Amino acid sequence: MIEKIVIANRGEIALRILRACRELGIKTVAVHSEADRELKHVRLADETVCIGPAPSAGSYLQVHSIISAAEVTDAMAIHPGYGFLSENADFAERVEESGFIFIGPKPETIRMMGDKITAIEAMKAAGVPCVPGSDGPLDNDERKTLKMAAGIGYPVIIKAAGGGGGRGMRVVHTEATLLNAISLTKAEAGAAFGNDTVYMEKYLENPRHVEFQVLADTHGNAIHLGERDCSMQRRHQKVVEEAPAPGISEELRNRLGERCAEACRRIGYRGAGTFEFLYENGEFYFIEMNTRIQVEHPVTEMITGVDIVKEQLRIAAGEALAYRQSDIQIRGHAVECRINAEDPVTFMPSPGDITHLHIPGGPGIRVDTHIYDGYRVPPHYDSMIGKLIAHGENRASAIARMRTALSEMVVDGIKTNIPLQQRIMVDEAFAKGGANIHYLEKKLGI
Ligand code: ADP
Repeated sequence: MIEKIVIANRGEIALRILRACRELGIKTVAVHSEADRELKHVRLADETVCIGPAPSAGSYLQVHSIISAAEVTDAMAIHPGYGFLSENADFAERVEESGFIFIGPKPETIRMMGDKITAIEAMKAAGVPCVPGSDGPLDNDERKTLKMAAGIGYPVIIKAAGGGGGRGMRVVHTEATLLNAISLTKAEAGAAFGNDTVYMEKYLENPRHVEFQVLADTHGNAIHLGERDCSMQRRHQKVVEEAPAPGISEELRNRLGERCAEACRRIGYRGAGTFEFLYENGEFYFIEMNTRIQVEHPVTEMITGVDIVKEQLRIAAGEALAYRQSDIQIRGHAVECRINAEDPVTFMPSPGDITHLHIPGGPGIRVDTHIYDGYRVPPHYDSMIGKLIAHGENRASAIARMRTALSEMVVDGIKTNIPLQQRIMVDEAFAKGGANIHYLEKKLGI
């Protein structure tokens, strides 16, 4: 087993990783910025290293400082969490070149999935269904491009191969605006991502976001842990997630999940990963793969009983998967509400001192958070301060438990989105299940 790891992240996910390490008897090194000395996992870690100032560009994104911290503490591996350097192929490569284990896929896999065009090509070859589109980059042949769009049918979406975070995309409704939209997207993509390659896809108007969780080891085994529905979004940011996705039959789950697992075997995938799909009219369309742990992984853990972070650590240590596909059984339903330090109406971040905190409990409730009484939420990072997860024997009971948990939770001193989550949990369309990705913004009137 790995003896000691560096946790190259902060907040709730750093604490989540620390807990998994403790359970497995792995020692931990918390690397943190100057603003994060009081983080819960920093206090609990076996060793700590301050890697720079508060802004993440000078700390959590400093490849050299993180690798140096691993060197001075004699750690064996680095867990990147999510965000920050987690999907940076150059970082993964530097980690491995420096003689450490990167807890994630091989750098070349991260690179392939980071370019949406090569990712789609790999998925197509593995039989994963993709959105109808240009099958590669758009070139300068305008007549060909116009013909292609007419063939796909409007609306179409122009996407940057190197895009991310919901940026570098443009929807085109009519032929008259196509060529101009392509040049604009190309110019923006070149400036933002240093790569002006763009491609075209059919624009799906009312899809749901449904994603599959996979695990793959270094011995050629890969399994899926079913799917999650993350359609409740605001500005492409997930607000509520759940598993399983409402209305997906076991037959469809097994078929798609096995395609994803097979794709992992074909590309030699290593670790935990997520295949993101748009789901419309009973069909799945692959959009991208996330090569890291995700914020919403707990809902899958609750319904499968698999500890995904522990599996990441075991896979990184070279162990074979502890589960076969037939071991994975789905039990009940789980819902996750992201808790953000922000105004529930204006969405303005609301950092500051937490003067009083009460964490809910009871059957089926799990709270993943690093905050505590007296903790100061710094203004420098993402506003998510924790996640409330409710598990029940079915979807209605999971939602009922979530409502109770939200009503018990008290976070004083700062504003949070708990009132918004309470509105969603009593919303009729949410209760029905299967709302599309535009639903929440329409409900909020934005
Ligand atoms: P990013 O890497 O920036 O998150 P994605 O490819 O995952 O980009 O797309 C982000 C979001 O953009 C999707 O969740 C979806 O809401 C929208 N989107 C992307 N492609 C399409 C498409 N072909 N049709 C409709 N919506 C799309």
